[in-house]
Amino acid sequence: MGAFADQPSLFGPDPDEPLVKPTVRMPIEMRVLITVKAAPNPSQTYGETVCVAGIRLDTERPGWVRLYPINFRALEDDKQFRKYDVVRLRARPSATDPRPESFRPELGSAVSESHLSSWAKRRPLVLDLVNKSMCQVQQEARDGRPGQVASMAAIRPRTVLGLDLQPHPGWSPAEKKKIDAYVQQLALDEDGPRTPLQAPRFKGWYRYLCQSPDCRGHRQGLYDWEFVVLQRRLTGLDDAEAMVRLRRNFLEIMCAPDRDTVFYVGNQQKRMTSFIIGGVFYPPA
Ligand SMILES: [Zn+2]
Repeated sequence: MGAFADQPSLFGPDPDEPLVKPTVRMPIEMRVLITVKAAPNPSQTYGETVCVAGIRLDTERPGWVRLYPINFRALEDDKQFRKYDVVRLRARPSATDPRPESFRPELGSAVSESHLSSWAKRRPLVLDLVNKSMCQVQQEARDGRPGQVASMAAIRPRTVLGLDLQPHPGWSPAEKKKIDAYVQQLALDEDGPRTPLQAPRFKGWYRYLCQSPDCRGHRQGLYDWEFVVLQRRLTGLDDAEAMVRLRRNFLEIMCAPDRDTVFYVGNQQKRMTSFIIGGVFYPPA
C-alpha cells in the first residue's frame, strides 16, 4: 500500500469481499439461489432447525447469504428451500450473529421462483464465486475482525485425499438439553415434529489439499442434509456396508476425476477459523 494508503481505492470493491451487511435491521427483499441445505440441528423451540445458504442474485454482484433459523414446518414442505431453487424472500440482518452473510428469514415470505435443473445453468453462478483457496480463507478469518471477513466460500480442492467416517457419538450434553426441553413442551405444541431429532449414524470429514501451493491439508466435517438423508436410507446395512455406500456417493461419484468438485464451506459463529462443509458441487469437468 505505502504511498497509496491515503488515496481512495482506484479499483472499486474487491469482488471477493463479503457483501456489506445493512446495519438497520429492516427486512430486505432478496433473491437467492439455494446451494446449501445443512444437516438439521436440535432446537429447543422448533425440535430441529436447519441452516440454508445460497447466492444472492439481487445484489450489484453475487455474494453469499446464510439463512437461519429455518424451522421444521418449513422443512416438512419439501417444495421450500430445495437446492438450486431461486427463492424470493424477506430476511433481516441477524441480530445475534455478526457474520456479514447471516440473515434471519421471514419464513412465510419465501416463494420459489424457478429451479435450475442442469449443471450448465448452475455452473456460471457458482464458479463465479470460486476465487480463493481454503488456506487463504482461513488466514483471512484469523487476521480479520468478525463481521468483516468472509465466513462462507466455495473451494475447489486440488486433491481430495479421503472421506473419514466414524460412528456418531450421539448428541452433546448441550444438544441433549435442547431436545429434552423440546420434548417437555411437545404436548403443548401441535406444530413441531412429533419425535425428537435422532443423531445421524455417522459423522464424516473430508480430507483434501487446497489450491495453495504450500497447503498442508484440511480435514473438515461434512454437514450436508443429503449426507444424513442417505444414512437414513441405509438402515438395513451393517456399518461396513453403509460406509461403502456413503463413500461411493460422497467420494467416488462427487469427487471423481471427471468432476469439477467444489466444496461449499462456512465457519462456525463461535470459532471463526473453524470451517465445515455444507455441501458439494460436482458438475462434469
Ligand atoms: Zn490449504
